[in-house]
Amino acid sequence: MAAWSRKSYRTARAALVRVASPVCRGEGGDPVKWGHAPIHASKQSSTRAVAEERKQTVERTLSIIKPDAVAKGAIGDILKTFCDAGLTIIAMKLIHLDEDGARGFYAVHKERPFFTDLVAFMTSGPVVVSVLEGEGAIAKNRELMGATDSTQAEAGTIRARFGTDIERNAVHGSDGPDTARIEIGYFFNASEIQAPVEAL
Ligand code: GDP
Repeated sequence: MAAWSRKSYRTARAALVRVASPVCRGEGGDPVKWGHAPIHASKQSSTRAVAEERKQTVERTLSIIKPDAVAKGAIGDILKTFCDAGLTIIAMKLIHLDEDGARGFYAVHKERPFFTDLVAFMTSGPVVVSVLEGEGAIAKNRELMGATDSTQAEAGTIRARFGTDIERNAVHGSDGPDTARIEIGYFFNASEIQAPVEAL
């Protein structure tokens, strides 16, 4: 068998890194920053600098594709919207929330008049929960989602495209770093989250 040249080694390693990548990587992602192809960042020190910068700017957020959007067959379109915006899906599952699960997740709203309806809606069918990672992921996801009331959401946003009203509004997204951490932990344990390649 022919000896491996440096070029063929690089090609094979790049392919291996691609296979090890999370479910989807948005086209807006920078391959070096995302740690998927650090081959051309040849010096260890620059790789470390990139990893440091990545840690400072990359966020994780929880997304839920709600029962109305799942029932409309919009899962694929919504996931593509995340990917096209440069967000990476690093964990995902299709689940059917029971009453306790929905009440616990929305506990912050338990005194609100719409709480019972909200729980009934969220348990009415399956949902897709996922963890999105990327630069400014929390705000970026909120921007993609649009306003809470789908009838007021800006044209082109997920809620304008797939939501119906203020309750049946297609998606949930964490509203800040603390809630993101709590909400991700509500649905996922550490072993269910795809670690970045450089951390393996
Ligand atoms: P979000 O962060 O944009 O999802 O909005 P909130 O955290 O304020 O509300 C949580 C969810 O409760 C919303 O996404 C809606 O599904 C629902 N919701 C919010 N406000 C109302 C309301 O006034 N009436 C009803 N029926 N549902 C609401």
